Parts: sequence; structure tokens; C-alpha cells
Amino acid sequence: MHAHLPADAIRFRDQVREFLREHLDDELRNAARLTTGVHTEIEAGQRWYRILARQGWIANTWPEAYGGTGWNALERYIFGIECFKAGAPLLFNGGIRHLGPILMAEGTEAQREKYLPGILCGEHIWCQGYSEPGAGSDLAALKLKAERQGDHYVLNGSKIWTTGAHFATHMFALVRTDDSGARQSGITFLLLEMTTPGLEVQPIISISGDHELNQVFFNDVRVPVANRVGTEGDGWRVAKSLMQHARSNNVNTGWVREALARLRRLAGQEASGQGGSLCEDAAFRRKLAEAEIFLERVTVLELRVLAATHKGDSPGAISSVLKTLGSEVKQQITELAAQAVAWYGLPFQPEALNPYAESPFVGPAHALTALPTYLNERAATIYSGASEVQRDVLAKRVLGL
Ligand SMILES: Cc1cc2nc3c(=O)[nH]c(=O)nc-3n(C[C@H](O)[C@H](O)[C@H](O)COP(=O)(O)OP(=O)(O)OC[C@H]3O[C@@H](n4cnc5c(N)ncnc54)[C@H](O)[C@@H]3O)c2cc1C
Repeated sequence: MHAHLPADAIRFRDQVREFLREHLDDELRNAARLTTGVHTEIEAGQRWYRILARQGWIANTWPEAYGGTGWNALERYIFGIECFKAGAPLLFNGGIRHLGPILMAEGTEAQREKYLPGILCGEHIWCQGYSEPGAGSDLAALKLKAERQGDHYVLNGSKIWTTGAHFATHMFALVRTDDSGARQSGITFLLLEMTTPGLEVQPIISISGDHELNQVFFNDVRVPVANRVGTEGDGWRVAKSLMQHARSNNVNTGWVREALARLRRLAGQEASGQGGSLCEDAAFRRKLAEAEIFLERVTVLELRVLAATHKGDSPGAISSVLKTLGSEVKQQITELAAQAVAWYGLPFQPEALNPYAESPFVGPAHALTALPTYLNERAATIYSGASEVQRDVLAKRVLGL
């Protein structure tokens, strides 16, 4: 792709590379290397977030009027690819990706003034409170009750699978304000602070040993009506308007390409058991080649989405195909890494993945992240729209089945 970049895009790429060379220190790179889930350890991630914020590069999907970079789709793509190549931390940035655009489109001026600066500088960390026990793929089944009492809503119920609720300062949430009519029309979109009395966060530790997920309980949590985005009962439309965009943003083949390069290096260090390295093993090489071909197919889809957004068009259903196949290719590559390290993947040592713990670990360094990453990636075909549901949508809307 780079061979066809126009001259101004090449200049932009070089500027990004220079910035990354200057600002990505060993501590940040090490934290990024130890990332096994959707974001890097939060302390390191937030340090990187603030560095980008100071440079004015954190909100690269926002218009300049709101403090964004105003970059076009190609520049955003180049920036993403270069960050992955340079080994930058993965950010926890729901505020930038989801809430900011919602507030720009649907929020009041007071809400924009109150919340956008905190997102831009990294002081506010936003988690997403949509899913509930019994409401995931069928999100309209959500029950968290918000009862109007004067100037406040009083919330009772729970949210689940809330990534980052344990370190987030704020949550944007879908709540039920009416259960008398159509399910979608009784849903309202609210903003709340995680320190509000009555709100309790309980950890969910995943099979890899990571703590990313939580269940959040609400017991008479009072949220000002002024924190409502859109009108009462309009939350479904507010949340839905951004889902397709979020899906197409969810995959960046830069990450997968780096994972594949890492897998090749890893296979070069692992013995095949028949003399020579795993890279020389014909059966393993075949699997690598299959993964690479799959990745090329996904890259073509990604470039189609990029071309559509660059022209200002909506990518439409391709973003669902990209989300589905993009998460599957990630799983394929992380599965091969787990196969390559074999028994070195077995020791359970989550503390060794904390970049600040300097904890000793069993086995070679290159094997440390393989199994936890493999386990974490199982979730990629579930969150942001499960693959089965995406395929149903495509079958109905695109194929007309
Ligand atoms: C790692 C991770 C992070 C997450 N982070 C967040 C977060 O920050 N905030 C948040 O709100 N939520 C979050 N979620 C929740 C996520 O959005 C839900 O897990 C997802 O929507 C699926 O819902 P569910 O878990 O209830 O599974 P279900 O909807 O019960 O699905 C179970 C299985 O049934 C299949 N299925 C369901 N319906 C259909 C159908 N109609 N046709 C065919 N198959 C179907 C699904 O594909 C799946 O295989 C996260 C989930 C994970 C795994």
C-alpha cells in the first residue's frame, strides 16, 4: 500500500514516525509488548494518552473545532499502522471513540463544555454500560431501571462485562425509563460518575488471569436529568447511530500484521522437534501462509472501508464483514502462537504481565504473552456484535435471505 501513497501522505507518515521515535520510550514499549487484551496496562496507557494529548493527536477522529486533529481517513489509517509498527501502547479510549462523537451530534452545549475537555486531556476515563445479564446480543432487553424523581433519575439494577469500570471515572449507559411500550422506545442514554453513591464495581477475572471486565451494581444511584443525552426514551437511536462506525473502527489490520510478524519471529525461535526451527516445518509454514492469505483478504476489506470513509460515504454492511472476519483472523494468528509455544504456554503467571511488577517468569520471554493473548482473543468474536449475529444481519440485509 505504501508504494501508492501520495506525496503529502508520505510526508505525514514521516512526521508520525519521527514523533514516535522521539516519544515512545522503553517503558511504554515494554508495557505494549506485554499487552494481552484490548488495552495496555492502564497506567502506561494513560501516560501514552497524555503524550498524544499534549501533541494534539489524541482525538484523531474528531473535527478540529472540538480539539481534534481534523485528519482525513487516510491519515488516521497511517497513524494507526505506524503506532502498531512502532510498538505503541493500546489505548482505552471509549471517550474518544464513542462518547465524544455522540456528544458532538446529540449532546447539549453544556454537556460538550463539561465533558469534552476531560476526554481530550485524559483526566476522564469513560466506560460503556450497555450490556446486562440477559441483555447482550439482544440489547433491547435491558432492564436497568431509571425512575424519574424530580431533577434526578434513580437507577437500580446492574450492568455486566463493563470493560475498565474499575478504573473509569465515568460511564455512559443505556437505562430503561419505560417498560410499557416497544422495548426500544423505553431506553434512555445517561452519563454518570463512577463515584456516585450506590454504585458498586465487582471484578470479573477472565480465564487468562486479566482483570478487564466487571459487573457494576446500581442501588438507588441518583443521576441528574441534565446528564441525559437526547430526549427520554430516545437512547436506542442515540446509541445505535454510532454502532456501525464503531464496528468499522474496531479492526485495524496493523495490529494483526504485527501479531503475524511476531508469530514468525517466535516460530523462528521455537524448535520443530525434528531438527531446525518451527519456521522450517512444512506443516507449520503452511498454517502461517494460510493466516497470511486470510489477512490479505481482510486488508482488502479494510481498504474498501477506508476508501468509502475517505470519500465521505458510509461503508455500510462491509463494516460488519470487516468486524467479523477481522476478529476471526486475529483469533487464527493468536491460536498459531499458542500452538507454537506449546507447553511454555501452560504456566499461569498473570503477575509477570504487569509491566511495573518486574516479576520473574517461567519459560522464554517470547512465550509469555502467547496463551493469555490467545485466551483473550476468544472474546473478539463476541464483543461489539457477536459473529453469529453479524452473519444473521448480513444474510438478511445483504443477501436478502
Ligand atoms: C471482552 C468483552 C468486553 C466487553 N466489554 C463490554 C463493555 O465495555 N460494555 C458493554 O456494555 N458490554 C461489553 N461486552 C459485552 C458484549 O457486548 C456482549 O458479550 C455481547 O453483546 C454478547 O452478549 P452476551 O454475552 O449476552 O451473549 P449472548 O447474546 O447471550 O450470546 C451467546 C451466544 O449466542 C449467540 N446468539 C445470540 N443471539 C443470536 C441470534 N439472534 N442468532 C444467532 N446466534 C445468536 C451469540 O452469537 C453467542 O455465540 C463485552 C464482552 C466481552 C466478551
